Amino acid sequence: MKIIKTIAELEHFVQSGHKKAFVPTMGNLHAGHLHLVDVAKKSVASSDGLTIASIFVNRLQFAPHEDFDQYPRTLEQDCQLLKAHGCDAVFAPDESVLYPTPQTFKVIPPSELANLWEGHFRPGFFTGVCTVVAKLFCMIRPDVAVFGRKDYQQLKVIEQMVQQLNMPIQIIGVPTQRSESGLALSSRNNYLNAQEIHQALELQAQLQTVAHDVLHTTLDFASITSEASRALTQKGWQVDYVSLVKQSDLTLAQRGQDLNLVCLAAAKLGKTRLIDNLEISLTTSK
Ligand code: AMP
Repeated sequence: MKIIKTIAELEHFVQSGHKKAFVPTMGNLHAGHLHLVDVAKKSVASSDGLTIASIFVNRLQFAPHEDFDQYPRTLEQDCQLLKAHGCDAVFAPDESVLYPTPQTFKVIPPSELANLWEGHFRPGFFTGVCTVVAKLFCMIRPDVAVFGRKDYQQLKVIEQMVQQLNMPIQIIGVPTQRSESGLALSSRNNYLNAQEIHQALELQAQLQTVAHDVLHTTLDFASITSEASRALTQKGWQVDYVSLVKQSDLTLAQRGQDLNLVCLAAAKLGKTRLIDNLEISLTTSK
C-alpha cells in the first residue's frame, strides 16, 4: 500500500487510468471506516479498480471550541489496518499540503439543508466538510466515493454537492457499523470512560423506542421525540436534538404525510458529543 504525502505523488498515483474508489476519513480508524474500505474495494473490483483512503483532520470543519487539537491521530496504526483491508493507497497530507495558502474560497452548502440539525449546533461545519471533500475530489478524481450513513446529514449534503456541481462521482452510503452492544462506532468513543461507554448505549436505545412508537402507536412525531429527549436528559445527557425528519430533505416529518423518515439525534455525555440516527419507513399497506 502506498502512503502518499504530497500532491505530486498523488497525481502520479491517480494518473494510472484505473477506476478509483475513494474513502475520505479523519483517521483513528475503526471497523466502521474499514467497512467503507471493503465496500469501496467491491465497487471497483469488477474493473480491476483502485481503492484510496484519505486521512486528514480538517481544521476547517472544527469550531474554535471543538476538539481539533485533541482529535486522536494514529497514522501508523491506521495504515496497518488499511493495508490489511487491501487498500491500495492512503493520502495523508500535512495541513501545509492541503491548505498551502489560507482557504478563502469555500464550498458553501445551501442553508435550507446545512443550517439544520448538525449545522445549527456546529455553524460552518458543512462548509468545512464540503470544501475539503471538494478539494479531495478534485485531486483524486474518483469514480466512486463511499460515506457512512452514521453521518446522515453529511451524506445528504455531499450527495447534493455532487449533483448540483455535476461532479461525475457515484456516492455510496454505507449502513452504520456498531459494537455488539449496539453503540455506533466512532473515533469520539475513545473519549468515553468505562461507565460512559455503557451509558452511551442509551442513545440508540431511545432511537429504537422512537421507531417503535412511530410504527406501533398513533402518537404525533413531536411527542415521540420530546419523550426521547426527556428520557436522555433524565439519564444525564445534554441533548442537542432528537428529530424525526424526512429522508428526502431533512425537514420535520409529520404523521399521516411522510413515510420515509430518519430520526436524527445528537447529545453530549459528559464532555463527549455523540450522534446517531435510525432510518424508519412506514408503509401505506395494512
Ligand atoms: P470520520 O473519520 O469520522 O470523518 O468518518 C469518515 C467516514 O466514516 C464518514 O463517511 C463517516 O460517516 C464514516 N463512519 C464513521 N463511523 C462510522 C460507522 N460507525 N459506520 C459506518 N460509517 C462510519
